[in-house]
Amino acid sequence: MAEYCNALVVGAGAVGASVALGLAQQGREVVLVEAVEPRPCHAQSDYDLRVFALSLASEAWLEHLGVWKDVLERRYCSYSDMRVWDAESEGQLHFDRQDVDRRHLGHIVENAVLVDALCSAAKAHPRIQWLCPERVESVSQEMGKTRVWLEGGTCFESDLLVAADGARSSLRDKLDIGVQRASYAQRGIVAMVKTERAHQHTAWQRFLSTGPLALLPLSNGQCSIVWSADDDLAEHLLSMDDETFKTRLSEASECVLGDVLETTQRLAFPLVSQHAERYAMPGIALVGDAAHVIHPLAGQGVNLGFMDAATLIDVLEGESRAGVRTAALRRYARRRRYANQIMQSGMTALYHAFGQSGGYWNRLRGQGMSVVSDIDPLRRRFARQAAGLDGDIPHFLQPHTR
Ligand SMILES: Cc1cc2nc3c(=O)[nH]c(=O)nc-3n(C[C@H](O)[C@H](O)[C@H](O)COP(=O)(O)OP(=O)(O)OC[C@H]3O[C@@H](n4cnc5c(N)ncnc54)[C@H](O)[C@@H]3O)c2cc1C
Repeated sequence: MAEYCNALVVGAGAVGASVALGLAQQGREVVLVEAVEPRPCHAQSDYDLRVFALSLASEAWLEHLGVWKDVLERRYCSYSDMRVWDAESEGQLHFDRQDVDRRHLGHIVENAVLVDALCSAAKAHPRIQWLCPERVESVSQEMGKTRVWLEGGTCFESDLLVAADGARSSLRDKLDIGVQRASYAQRGIVAMVKTERAHQHTAWQRFLSTGPLALLPLSNGQCSIVWSADDDLAEHLLSMDDETFKTRLSEASECVLGDVLETTQRLAFPLVSQHAERYAMPGIALVGDAAHVIHPLAGQGVNLGFMDAATLIDVLEGESRAGVRTAALRRYARRRRYANQIMQSGMTALYHAFGQSGGYWNRLRGQGMSVVSDIDPLRRRFARQAAGLDGDIPHFLQPHTR
């Protein structure tokens, strides 16, 4: 005998938990299924090495859900400047908060902080049933309803099934939705480092021919690094002792914050570009990394996922709780596929442009960066795009993003 719910969300990462909250706020009865219990995260917790540069649009979405203050109570670092420069040319770019007419460009927030704040709110919500640890066993569709059997033995009948179970989504496989995937043959190395000089609430990024290196400011005065490097170099960087790594990192960052004095352990993740062949089918939607994975060089992965979540909630407004029209889900798919595809292609183009050395490419990059930097309207346009203030924004976020 199946239990009934309006919506079943699989995966309570930052994106899935935010979708569940948005659906519950629309008055829907939601089941949220997560495989792994999130770890509590507070001001004294160890830092999570996976950190995000949250855009102003993501901030507006979290504020709309009522969880932004919970994020700020845990841990964050706002940044008001972003400095990007090229190792092979004289090209450099500087964005600051005046480019977006705000008090900051965005916030650096750990994944664990986001997940803890969102999942705590989801667990406390009277319309959300939290099932964890739990996984989907199988899925079937009949007469416009989706039936989901969980490994624990429960079966749900739902009007909407949302796949938010990350890049290796097993629900996407069960639904037979293929992905286009390409490897960058690179890995992203993450660690937390202490530098000689203060980070100045600035996000720093140096483009090396082997991949970009970002130093993101943290509230404890240290920096989180995301160093994208070709596989061989990444292997080498991971295997070296801390002293040698600190020296290599100081050189790679051009000592922009002085020498690197301390480092935590290093973790690495493979860099891929991945896009699901479909974002929606009758009664089903894919969001976040289950739908798309992009190169982290512009730090947009989770921001795109949050805009998927907000757009899905936007198209469902006014839709009956019992039964979601396929046309609404198609609208969601059209809006988000286009935006995500543009970002993904842009990241791949940048990856290739900065991966080329030699006189012609160096000149081209240097001149391109100078043009963006020197022409005020162009620079402001780039800054607004990065902050998520332009483009197809869900109507309920527009008052925050104008
Ligand atoms: C090391 C690292 C650094 C990154 N740095 C950045 C960055 O600087 N900026 C940025 O924007 N992005 C970054 N990203 C990408 C970013 O982490 C993702 O875009 C973002 O986490 C996607 O969120 P999500 O909720 O879609 O997926 P996930 O965070 O992957 O969450 C998926 C959830 O689903 C659960 N799950 C999985 N399978 C099942 C199942 N079968 N049943 C139930 N639950 C399941 C998982 O436990 C998890 O909680 C980074 C990624 C990594 C790995």
